[in-house]
Amino acid sequence: MDYVKLINCMRCGMCLPACPTYKETFLETASPRGRVALIRKLQEGELDQSERLLEFLSLCLDCQACASACPCGVNAGELVAEFTCEKKSADGLGFMEDLILRKLVPHPDRLETSMVPMRLYQNSGLQKLVRTLGVLKMFPKPLERMEGLLPSLPSRSLRQEISEVTPAVGTERGTVGFFLGCVMSLIFSDASRATIKLLSVLGYKVITPRNQVCCGAPNMLGGDLEGLKEAARTNIDIFGGYMVDFIVTDCGGCGAELKKYGHHIEEEAASEFSTKVRDISQVLALHIEELQAKLKPLHQKVTYHDPCHIAHCQGIRKEPRDLLKLVPGLEYKELDTADACCGSAGTYNIAKPEMSDKILHRKLDTVRASGAEILVTSNPGCLLQLKKGLADQLPHVKLMHLTEILAQSMEN
Ligand code: SF4
Ligand code: SF4
Repeated sequence: MDYVKLINCMRCGMCLPACPTYKETFLETASPRGRVALIRKLQEGELDQSERLLEFLSLCLDCQACASACPCGVNAGELVAEFTCEKKSADGLGFMEDLILRKLVPHPDRLETSMVPMRLYQNSGLQKLVRTLGVLKMFPKPLERMEGLLPSLPSRSLRQEISEVTPAVGTERGTVGFFLGCVMSLIFSDASRATIKLLSVLGYKVITPRNQVCCGAPNMLGGDLEGLKEAARTNIDIFGGYMVDFIVTDCGGCGAELKKYGHHIEEEAASEFSTKVRDISQVLALHIEELQAKLKPLHQKVTYHDPCHIAHCQGIRKEPRDLLKLVPGLEYKELDTADACCGSAGTYNIAKPEMSDKILHRKLDTVRASGAEILVTSNPGCLLQLKKGLADQLPHVKLMHLTEILAQSMEN
């Protein structure tokens, strides 16, 4: 780890009000400043890697709200992630981590097969029975959490059904590569179908390579830097085989990771790849007037939750709002602290359920206060977390991906 990044912290505390775990605990050790200090002391050999210290670090969501707030460019979330990677490469992956991060996640076909029992569980009516009887209370807590987060699954993944080339509607203005995020393809395929449709309607030929693999974000989260680099090399080779203007994604987490390939792999092909990556909102925002002409009224109140990976990691805040404000009749309400994390953070909501719930409840309170009937966001982790939260507390609020609401307005 670069020691300079640690000593850049001048301990001003400006990051504290932005940090979700500090807001819940008021503990210095659960703040960005405290985490930087802990890692620094570890590096300097003044502290040992005790269980308690590692626990404090593992409470970080890597939401990077601290990076947006820090005047010195310190990114505590990234430093914690780097520390975890270094520790993991020294300790090695455990059996389950190896199984998930190396043998499952990088293989889309295996991931798709792993969804079959879950689909059967839902379609056979067993899920309804299990939930009614509360059977899962007898099983380990994480299993109950995972089951509770599982939304209704589509019958097939988008990767299995989408053709590799979707032609442009009308005059072709360019070609884009579409990056299929694993969770988007497996669970939120309707949203990605809407994304491809919008691109095609705007005149882009969309290439969706079938052999692309996971972006590597789960590897990074699990501290498996080598696994991330392997995924990156595969995707760089695959997309490098096509002449595309942009590589577009509708998954905030994937976008943030794909844009960092050039940082992880110091090769020209990696930085070329990363420079082409765009969040869907960035591409759509290039065609505001054309979109405006195609959108039809939707008379509802809408608000927008900024996914951390879009607002803090990619600095994209204006485009999604501008796009929502284009829809005639749609009343846009700004959410209080819209860029505060929802508590999802990859598998954080399963690993740290109590903290995750507290953070989620704060978010739901702001949604309630906004009076919105539709909550829009653009990251599968947020979609999963907020879907569960809304179903429990605000069932009248509909959750949609940004491209779903735009496509719906176009179809009206
Ligand atoms: S991380 Fe940045 S904002 Fe936080 S205390 Fe250090 S210098 Fe200040
Ligand atoms: S990444 Fe998020 S949770 Fe972690 S220190 Fe920064 S603000 Fe706090």
